[in-house]
Amino acid sequence: MTVDGESPPAISTQVPPGVRCISCGYDLAGLDSSGRCPECGTAIAESVRGDGLAFADAGYLRTLGRGLRVIRVSVSAALLCWLGGSIGLLLISAAGVRIPSWGYDTAIGGLLLASCCLYVLGWWVATTSDPRDDSQGLPRSAIIARYGTIAIIAAVACMLVLGTWLANVRDVVRVVLLFGLIVQHAAGSLYLNQLAERVPSARATKMSRNAFTAVVTLATAWTIEAVLDALSISPPRGSSGTATVLRLAMSLLGLVMFIAGIVAIARQFTAAGIIRKDVLRFLASRAGANP
Ligand SMILES: [Zn+2]
Repeated sequence: MTVDGESPPAISTQVPPGVRCISCGYDLAGLDSSGRCPECGTAIAESVRGDGLAFADAGYLRTLGRGLRVIRVSVSAALLCWLGGSIGLLLISAAGVRIPSWGYDTAIGGLLLASCCLYVLGWWVATTSDPRDDSQGLPRSAIIARYGTIAIIAAVACMLVLGTWLANVRDVVRVVLLFGLIVQHAAGSLYLNQLAERVPSARATKMSRNAFTAVVTLATAWTIEAVLDALSISPPRGSSGTATVLRLAMSLLGLVMFIAGIVAIARQFTAAGIIRKDVLRFLASRAGANP
């Protein structure tokens, strides 16, 4: 999709196997690299340059940039809901205003659900497959990151509907939600890591790897907590030495989970931001080259 004049110098060689058209995914193996894709007319030289995002299809880059933006907006919105909800509740009780609690819960719950919808949309758009990979389908990390959001929004909706009702069911849903968040976040971080390597951006690669490590740490702490829980030594009572150590271990695990969760979210957020900025830069430089 380039103007003829600015294609790279045409050196006539045969396209090696495994190279697909960046615009339509057509298998270009064996064709003359100075020619054009027989399917869509894109200069073959563009597809031979490797799978760097700088050379990816412009339409794909625009979609990717949009998806990453929506993901970041949805994460900010969910955090604001959570923070704003807690602060608002404090203010309301401090001011002694009488607001029916169901009204307040519905408002915050509705906003939270809306940010979850944005999260689903963002991941759905950001994991749109690059046309050059069309024949191979989406990478596994992208599929899990994409469909994992459905499990998350279903669990959040369940929690909101249940409220303080049916405590047992609610506990199960909470486990499903945390599990869904961990798996989806880990897969999303791996997917961003692949994108970061295609930019390439050392910082985004590091950030996405850190996000993955943090979420694995969270999962490990959660598993240990669940094992202690299953051994029915939770909450450990009494004042014996063992009980004190166990109580300490449980609070430490809780703290590890909290910090790991924050780090995981922050690092993935940053990685998505860096990749998006680079994607926009590629698009801008292309717009400059093709006035
Ligand atoms: Zn093509």
